[in-house]
Amino acid sequence: MISIEAFIFVAMSDKLYIYNSLTREKTVFEPLNPPFVGMYVCGPTVYNEVHLGNLRTFISFDLIYRWLTARGYKVRYVRNITDVGHLENDADEGEDKISKRARLEQLEPMEIAQKYSNRFHEVLSLFRCIPPSIEPTATGHIIEQIELIQAILSKGLAYEVNGSIYFDVKKYAEHNHYGILSGRNIEELLSGTRNLDGQDEKRNPLDFALWKKADPSHIMRWPSPWGNGFPGWHLECSAMSTKYLGTTFDIHGGGMDLKFPHHECEIAQHCAAHGSMPVKYWIHGNMLTLNGKKMSKSDGNFVLPFDLINGTPPLVDKPYSPLSIRFFMLQAHYGSTLDLSMEALGAADKAFKRLQQSVKDLSEIQPGDTLADFDIGKWTDACQAAMNDDFNSPVLIANLFEAVKIINACKDKSKSLDKQQLAILKEHIQLYFYQVLGLDETASGVVESEMMNGIMQLILELRKTAREQKDWKTSDKIRDTLQSLKITIKDGKEGSTWQINN
Ligand SMILES: [Zn+2]
Repeated sequence: MISIEAFIFVAMSDKLYIYNSLTREKTVFEPLNPPFVGMYVCGPTVYNEVHLGNLRTFISFDLIYRWLTARGYKVRYVRNITDVGHLENDADEGEDKISKRARLEQLEPMEIAQKYSNRFHEVLSLFRCIPPSIEPTATGHIIEQIELIQAILSKGLAYEVNGSIYFDVKKYAEHNHYGILSGRNIEELLSGTRNLDGQDEKRNPLDFALWKKADPSHIMRWPSPWGNGFPGWHLECSAMSTKYLGTTFDIHGGGMDLKFPHHECEIAQHCAAHGSMPVKYWIHGNMLTLNGKKMSKSDGNFVLPFDLINGTPPLVDKPYSPLSIRFFMLQAHYGSTLDLSMEALGAADKAFKRLQQSVKDLSEIQPGDTLADFDIGKWTDACQAAMNDDFNSPVLIANLFEAVKIINACKDKSKSLDKQQLAILKEHIQLYFYQVLGLDETASGVVESEMMNGIMQLILELRKTAREQKDWKTSDKIRDTLQSLKITIKDGKEGSTWQINN
């Protein structure tokens, strides 16, 4: 578990500016009920491995959460787990993604949801993302979702057809602005959609499902006033954000691809039920491309987080540590697109190691009198200003590299810092490098596994030497002790290897 309690609170007198996707402007962040901040981020649909683009989004919101906390806000961070209702396409058609995967893997849908929720948590913790305060699931909030549908029905903004409920977008748009977030125009949207073929239950192609009827073969279904069924995908976020953060809350985030239709539909559902806008600041993380192209499984232009960690060919050239990958992502502003290539990742890996070494060197540096021309006050202000400027991590990192120059000069003793400057520098490196950027290696599972690898190589070499000297007692002791620790050694022509028996 990662703790952020040790944060040094940053002066809140300096204003934080956030780019609000709703107003399309960068404005001063004024929470509804300071020092409390409510933040909701759309979480994963747990039917497969978390994708690198999604990982980037979660790292971006981790940075945002860390900075808000560093400023002294008491943040309630809610991130959901979608474990039902997300159909294969946005037009409310196709199979439920989780049910489909369950069928393919011959598991219960809840086994799929659990398996990929566990994997998701494992990956996020490897990438140093702090867990949210509340992580609600869609299946755990069916009652709240049914209540929300009833509220929308009571306003006349949804209709029932054959046990399914649809949101009436055209009727809603008579008195509300559908498209307020995405900037899409309802007339254009209508002209861009296919005509209904008469078979469709929807009155209008833009309408979206709030509740879908499920036949008895469907495992994931619940009773409702309209018969057995399951909730529509957009509904859970409206129901759960309101439940845990109130009818209006501060920040709602997610990837850019969720702006439309998902977030637009969330706004519509909320306004229909409660008559007010749900969120003050909408924040959207931008996309990650691979070698200049959209990541796509079907084109083979696709890598997963573990492909980077393990160095899986052909797209990945060598193993990268999760912290180098996290650093690579933080080197770009969350609102900009980022292209992943092995050249860019390799450069980030080198830069990160340089920064990491400097941070380690700093702890050894002693104060001196050959004072460097370094205005520490100006430097700390610049770091803070970077983060206050819409969480500008690339500018913060550039400032940290300014400190690297000074640290190196102090290390080779060509310059020095006085006691007070040094104390301020150490305190702020602690704040920005470890706590805000989250680049702390000590709890990373990968570092542990690298260490384990190193220790095992040493043990195998010692055993090899013992065997060469016909010291069977030592060699057997090593093998038997490892065996009792559930580590098996296999001797082969190419030498010995080891594996952990699960
Ligand atoms: Zn959502």
